[in-house]
Amino acid sequence: MYRTNTCGELQLANVDQTVTLAGWVQKTRKMSGMTFVDIRDRYGVTQLVFNQETDADLWEKSNKLGREYVIQVTGVVKERSNKNPNIPTGEIEIIVSQLNILNASVTPPFTIEDETDGGDDIRMKYRYLDLRRNSVRANLEMRHKMTIEVRSYLDKQDFMEVETPVLISSTPEGARDFIVPSRLSPGQFYALPQSPQTFKQLLMVSGFDRYFQIVKCFRDEDLRADRQPEFTQIDCEMSFVEQEDILNTFEGLSKHLFKTIRGIDITEPFERITWHDAMKYYGSDKPDTRFDMKFVELMDIMKGHGFPVFDSAAYIGGICAEGAASYTRKQLDALTDFVKRPQIGAKGLVYARVEADGNVKSSVDKFYSQEVLQQLKEAFQAKPGDLILVLSGEDIMKTRKQLNELRLEVGSQLGLRDKNTFSCLWVVDFPLFEWSEEDQRFYAMHHPFTAPKPEDIALLDSDPGAVRANAYDMVINGVEVGGGSIRIHDSGLQNKMFQLLGFTEERAQEQFGFLMDAFKYGAPPHGGIAYGLDRMVSLFAGLDSIRDCIAFPKNNSGRDVMIDAPSNVDPDQLNELHLVIHTEE
Ligand code: ASP
Repeated sequence: MYRTNTCGELQLANVDQTVTLAGWVQKTRKMSGMTFVDIRDRYGVTQLVFNQETDADLWEKSNKLGREYVIQVTGVVKERSNKNPNIPTGEIEIIVSQLNILNASVTPPFTIEDETDGGDDIRMKYRYLDLRRNSVRANLEMRHKMTIEVRSYLDKQDFMEVETPVLISSTPEGARDFIVPSRLSPGQFYALPQSPQTFKQLLMVSGFDRYFQIVKCFRDEDLRADRQPEFTQIDCEMSFVEQEDILNTFEGLSKHLFKTIRGIDITEPFERITWHDAMKYYGSDKPDTRFDMKFVELMDIMKGHGFPVFDSAAYIGGICAEGAASYTRKQLDALTDFVKRPQIGAKGLVYARVEADGNVKSSVDKFYSQEVLQQLKEAFQAKPGDLILVLSGEDIMKTRKQLNELRLEVGSQLGLRDKNTFSCLWVVDFPLFEWSEEDQRFYAMHHPFTAPKPEDIALLDSDPGAVRANAYDMVINGVEVGGGSIRIHDSGLQNKMFQLLGFTEERAQEQFGFLMDAFKYGAPPHGGIAYGLDRMVSLFAGLDSIRDCIAFPKNNSGRDVMIDAPSNVDPDQLNELHLVIHTEE
């Protein structure tokens, strides 16, 4: 037996016991004739004591230990005189009588402590060492716990976990596929699933009724903090359900996760907002509702007073930052620079302060009488001390998105986006289609299998852009943690959908013939949802990037810098796959 206890469990109750521990040397401190070593494993850290007076040889040996050596020690647990209240084992130490060096370590490239001296790149290259750090390990523990709770909750609700294949053909979720060349079928390719969408629908045709799977999905997209080329979904599908059933079931799952993982009781039903209102009041289909600060449209009040920027605008809208009238000129200039950044693209920012006497002082006083400015104040029901911020633009959607960025920034500056406060929301009634100016065609906003609202089916021919979908997203603190829809289960309607999306009959048949065929054999009404597990964990753990809850993530260029992937392959492998690489001149 290598150890009797872990490095995280011994306390005063264990005093005088003889124990054996195994783990890594976190650090060593030498003090006249005494050497203290912190030994670490997954469970914690325990202080070891080597005393020159009682055993000079052993003390000598302990002085040879370097950081990250793997050791085994036996000794007696004693109460510490100098206690450390910050760790569970801080009241005891082990007076070591035997030391066995199990393995040496070269000096690690960064210190393996909570506050490390290693930058991002080096920690990713040596991710296996980074994973020894408490914070990173804690994130993975939370992830583990979440998957256990998901499985147990869904199992109790009669969901069955079924694995679906990874080598498939293209599943359209709006991103690029990763493709895999086939050796046995020269010139042909598999695609890695962007989601198990079609398979889970086929499982409903098979009668599985309630399916889920914690599953890797692959999308070849440009990367951001909340995106990885491979990520994990909690993918679910149910038969004989309406939208309401799905919302209730998965609200239940989310509440269960909050309770079991964060100890938070979310008793209220999740708020619901239509996509239309989300865009109107927040300029985003994933609004952060931890704080209010809804948009107010100001065309009626602000247009037509001779201020050229507003007079030519198609949209004028603003937000009211409570108590922010004290913002200095410098802070306001910084906000103006913020909205003018190319990523946001606003032309400028108009502000109006409500002063102590109720008068409004704005950056455009030249154009507006106090009477109009009072109307502006009323529109927000602003009080003395409040700051009104206004944006305008020629494109309604674009300007709303800019105002959304401003709202989030101001929310952060005012401390309204606390990581430990959670605001859960369903966004419902998404449009079925999204028009692409560039391609002059409709795309499915969610995916082509999403059902239109029955009352909007008639609009499919006359005004497809106005058709609403039975689609919903779960949004928590401005993060889209999940999304899904009620599906089309009628092959006629599905064919119509493909047509509207510009598929020829042959292409629809070629890509989705299997699904259309399956629908001919008694497809039940069905619908589902998929959560992004990585996003959910990072939200629960308060992380800035989903990378921090993935054991071996890719960097922003989609590379795994530890194993150096992607990489070249052997010419023989290429030959076998009938592939020739054309290098750009
Ligand atoms: N397959 C969808 C997605 O990956 C989720 C769903 O509709 O269930 O977003």
